[in-house]
Amino acid sequence: MNDGERSDIVIAGAGPVGTVLACALAANGWKIALCERGGPPAKSSPERDRRGLALTVASQRILAHLGVWTLITPGSVAEIRRMRVCEDGASVTFDAAEIGRKDLGYVVEYAELMAALTRRIKAYPDTISHRDSGAVQWIASSRDGELRLATGDTLRARLAVASDGAYSLIRGSGGIGLETHPYHETAITTTVRTRVPHGQQAWQRFLPGGPLALLPLPDPGERSLIWSLAEAQARELCALGDEAFADALRAACGDEFGEISTCVPRQAFPLIRARAQRYIGERLALAGDAAHHVHPLAGQGVNLGLADAATLAEVLIDARTAGRDPGARAALRRYERWRRSANTPMLAAIDLFHDLFPRPGRLWGKTRRTGLRVFDTLTPVKREVMRYASGIKGDLPFLARPCGQSSS
Ligand SMILES: Cc1cc2nc3c(=O)[nH]c(=O)nc-3n(C[C@H](O)[C@H](O)[C@H](O)COP(=O)(O)OP(=O)(O)OC[C@H]3O[C@@H](n4cnc5c(N)ncnc54)[C@H](O)[C@@H]3O)c2cc1C
Repeated sequence: MNDGERSDIVIAGAGPVGTVLACALAANGWKIALCERGGPPAKSSPERDRRGLALTVASQRILAHLGVWTLITPGSVAEIRRMRVCEDGASVTFDAAEIGRKDLGYVVEYAELMAALTRRIKAYPDTISHRDSGAVQWIASSRDGELRLATGDTLRARLAVASDGAYSLIRGSGGIGLETHPYHETAITTTVRTRVPHGQQAWQRFLPGGPLALLPLPDPGERSLIWSLAEAQARELCALGDEAFADALRAACGDEFGEISTCVPRQAFPLIRARAQRYIGERLALAGDAAHHVHPLAGQGVNLGLADAATLAEVLIDARTAGRDPGARAALRRYERWRRSANTPMLAAIDLFHDLFPRPGRLWGKTRRTGLRVFDTLTPVKREVMRYASGIKGDLPFLARPCGQSSS
């Protein structure tokens, strides 16, 4: 039993968000305790999380600033140059060239990103102490707080960050409520090989059961599938053999890509919409999915979370540089205001898309298709949407700005 080991900050949850925050603070000399309840699965493990994560330009910049991007295995990143969103013959195309860029974002496997982050953390053996244990409770006093671990150990710090995902224990122990809304949907993910090469295009089709997205992977013939469906339908599809599943997928894609086969086992993720009522508590801040858990249809979850981490690091460093207590309310309020104003419009847009697209009825369908066709002609509006969605517009934290730029 280890009682009361002291750090500047304790981080519960070493997913992408908690690990990025740890790197950003350790790079500035902070002493961090980082707790993770599950160890990383081995590279060849069938449980390896092979989800292709679409990362925005802003997320790429955060990872590059922290020296993580160059640690991703060479050849494991695919660029997204175009994106096509369609429903029944109508579509909108977003092209990076229209905003003077080569790419709109990147696709990296979740496990590959975590491997690079784990490698980066090893560069800070004296400042990041990694604890292989779940965090169970945060108890704060006016001066500092105590994080209790499942092992029985306790860790003391002036601030705890809950980055322990959508089902965060630390959020609840800090007295922060959660508004949840089950979608009653499951996302099926796998890697597929298509006869038609992807040409660096991300593709999404809205189907009556939910959206189906295919993201480009480094191999021109491979794509990462994220297919959201009603729970019962997802169960049926998961139970199919590989060939029958590929046939169902091909039918859902409207034969757009020719022959399709699956390359890796399917994984299923139950989906919920969850929003923390506050992002901060007593010497406590929430970041990433612990604060906001969104539908994967816009590929924004981890991007919002990495921006949370970059913003929180900046706010804490500013407070300490000014001689203030980084765990005090004033610093935490600045973080909450900044991230709420950035996250709220994106969360609202994701909810709107989710709720609008599956509505049945010919009139709704016709209205959506007309909307998509009209929207496709509104080039200035599309450019603005692309800038927001790739994270290059808005009140960006320092780490999300281009190298060498001090204000957005
Ligand atoms: C099918 C699917 C596809 C997605 N695609 C995209 C995409 O393309 N782009 C995108 O931006 N986002 C995407 N997302 C969302 C993205 O995966 C999440 O937003 C992101 O993983 C959140 O990161 P996080 O670090 O906040 O939480 P997590 O990734 O959930 O990590 C939390 C970590 O905390 C650990 N933990 C949990 N409880 C405890 C505890 N009590 N103590 C210690 N550790 C704990 C967990 O083991 C885990 O390692 C997708 C999500 C799904 C389901």
